[in-house]
Amino acid sequence: MQKCGKCNEHFSWSKIYESFWLNYKPIKCNECNTTHKITMPSTLIFVSFTILPMLTFGFFLSPFSNGLVTLGIATLIFIIGSLLAPFLVTYKES
Ligand SMILES: [Zn+2]
Repeated sequence: MQKCGKCNEHFSWSKIYESFWLNYKPIKCNECNTTHKITMPSTLIFVSFTILPMLTFGFFLSPFSNGLVTLGIATLIFIIGSLLAPFLVTYKES
């Protein structure tokens, strides 16, 4: 999990997760107040864990002819991907 570049304080999963939903809002360290911005590759990681697999499933891989079932599973894929993404992204001091 991502740490503060200055004081090595760990950022919580929920803090990073929240940052995603606020348009990659910069994270502020609890200890030293240093602001951290998401790195460019990390935004790509987030997209490739969420939107990409969701669309791939929805358009190419779905075995279901029922659009609603496909949509439900695609949404599930998106949610699971977004839950995993905080472990992989990196933030940089700004
Ligand atoms: Zn810190």
